Amino acid sequence: MPSSTTGSLISAGVGTLRGIGPALEKKLARLGIETLQDVLFHLPFRYEDRTRVTPIGAVRPGDAYVVEGEVVACDVTYGRRRSLLAYLQDDTGKVGLRFYHFSKAQHHNLKTAGKIRCFGEIRAGASGPEIYHPEYSKLSAREPMEEALTPIYPATEGVSQGRYRSMAEQVLAMLDAEPLEELLGGDWPLSLNEAIRYLHRPPSDANTGAMLDGVHPAQSRLAFEELTAHQVSLRIVRAEIQKLTAPEMAAPAQKYEEARTAFGFTLTNAQARVSAEVAQDMMKPQPSLRLVQGDVGSGKTVIAALAATHTHENHFQTALMAPTELLAEQHFINVSSWLNPLGIKTAWLSGRVTGKKREEALARIAMGEASVVIGTHALFQKDVHFKSLGLVIVDEQHRFGVHQRLALREKGTEGNASPHQIVMTATPIPRTLSMSMYADMDVSIIDELPPGRTPITTTVLSDEKRDGVISRVADACAEGRQAYWVCTLIEESEALQCQAAESTAEELEKLLPNVRIGLVHGRMTSTAKTSVMNEFKLGNLDLLVATTVIEVGVDVPNASLMVIENSERLGLAQLHQLRGRIGRGSAASNCVLLYKKPLGTISKERLEVMRQSNDGFFIAERDLEIRGPGELLGARQSGALQFRIADLMRDQSMLQDVRSTAQTLLDHSPDDADKLVRRWIKDPERVGQV
Ligand code: ADP
Ligand code: MG
Repeated sequence: MPSSTTGSLISAGVGTLRGIGPALEKKLARLGIETLQDVLFHLPFRYEDRTRVTPIGAVRPGDAYVVEGEVVACDVTYGRRRSLLAYLQDDTGKVGLRFYHFSKAQHHNLKTAGKIRCFGEIRAGASGPEIYHPEYSKLSAREPMEEALTPIYPATEGVSQGRYRSMAEQVLAMLDAEPLEELLGGDWPLSLNEAIRYLHRPPSDANTGAMLDGVHPAQSRLAFEELTAHQVSLRIVRAEIQKLTAPEMAAPAQKYEEARTAFGFTLTNAQARVSAEVAQDMMKPQPSLRLVQGDVGSGKTVIAALAATHTHENHFQTALMAPTELLAEQHFINVSSWLNPLGIKTAWLSGRVTGKKREEALARIAMGEASVVIGTHALFQKDVHFKSLGLVIVDEQHRFGVHQRLALREKGTEGNASPHQIVMTATPIPRTLSMSMYADMDVSIIDELPPGRTPITTTVLSDEKRDGVISRVADACAEGRQAYWVCTLIEESEALQCQAAESTAEELEKLLPNVRIGLVHGRMTSTAKTSVMNEFKLGNLDLLVATTVIEVGVDVPNASLMVIENSERLGLAQLHQLRGRIGRGSAASNCVLLYKKPLGTISKERLEVMRQSNDGFFIAERDLEIRGPGELLGARQSGALQFRIADLMRDQSMLQDVRSTAQTLLDHSPDDADKLVRRWIKDPERVGQV
């Protein structure tokens, strides 16, 4: 086995590469690219074939080609927009090269260029094929063609494709000298190093179809290794947790019973069952970990409040963490209103609580005066000390990583005593997956909604009907109903999303002078957000224009109308979450999904699913059927399952082998198992302290 550079590749920063200064380093860090090894694992998501020249007569719109020929014309044209249009000709045909941005010099150079080689995507122009802004170079001598397919990497603003290629090139060269150590054992058609090289520099005859689907053997090789690393780390953590002890609580007593009546409603059967399961956990001397899964609006907060009461009765503290400031604050308000009257004190902590207020909160937490501490991940910063943390509750856990969650547990661990843990989520996780990747969890499902809800009627409309929708909002508000108008622009930055919400609010204010309109978005201060939310809750605002910040947890039962713009661009799980903000009161609720034309068949089917069903599990299943597995737990929905290369749905069939490989490694080569975890998983503690 060759000697290994694993250590240096893991630890050497990208700043040691040629051409990477501090500014680029920062930008790359946003993509999680910090070390040389990160460069290797940052794989292209598609490839371009620049290995051969295609006769111009054979190009087809929609695909990208290298073409060569003579520049036969080059003039400025004045259509809808001024542009520079050149024509490139070979023996088989002619293609237009169009530039919307160009200089005089470029015009001149191209006009006199003679023979050139171009690369770009073909579009169907009014008078034949065209390429917009092709890359091109003069063909004076015989330029060599690319030998490998050209990789296109997932990018962040301000880092060019050329930069990623140059980084990969440099690190691959180091890999030649000192390959990564093979840790899995067994026979593989491709070694780890070969697989990495292949994916960064596939030969011209590579099966790009398989690579696009993520099922090429080179990808499977890496995915398998990554899944094994996670499995190993979960097993190590689990083994460690099993050595710990947790507060062994007495059965729920008087306060617990009082809390049950403090809600002002009777628990549903499902809530009663799940809260009993949770209480049983806490009466055991080992740290428990329970996943409470329940659809939007099923009443998970109640489960948290009861568990916190139980913990209080046993003189321990509870930490309740939510992923956003807004949601955490809602929890704080609700839980405080239920539990404070029973003499159970609460404390509030977020990144924005600073100075004296923060010190005060920290003191109340450290002295144990505050029984239930509610906040964002600020709860787990270094200077937060609990007197006796007995229970950690993480809400909407799909927003947090597995390892972040594990780090949270560590927060409350002292010596060999650890708190109990509950994670709550509305995201349905298919059972096969939860069994293999959440093997350390028990699962409870709240499969019933509180009574008295009127189902939401959903309509799907083209945004050509937007005016009609606006007057519907006006009518609803005139009748005393409240409404949300959700602005989404998922592909753009958060800043753009906020701008969209701002301008929509302005527009609606002009069109609807009699409607009291509020605005919340992610760029407002938390005080400003909270005060708008409170006004809305109190009924002093009729219409709330918002970005997807309201996606989780916001609870205003009187709101019964929701309009979602660009709904075709959101995932179904996210739409379902958003829609769950209405249908919470006794009034019949309506959701209007606006979309932009043209709408593809898949998008049409997906919106149709939203129209038909209010059931989160059903929606997730249909989403899976329509889109295929790749995306169900795609990017943001799967925060809990963050992988660099693997995809749990796509790679499901590997899981059985992954488990046995992990076990074999742990049994026979614990050192390699350890190295494997360090290769793939960044320091869990650091992740937890964001
Ligand atoms: P989620 O599971 O989405 O977090 P919440 O805990 O926010 O749901 O509860 C949604 C709404 O339902 C809240 O207004 C809550 O007070 C109310 N609720 C919860 N349980 C019940 C119940 N058993 N009966 C009536 N209303 C309930
Ligand atoms: Mg909730």
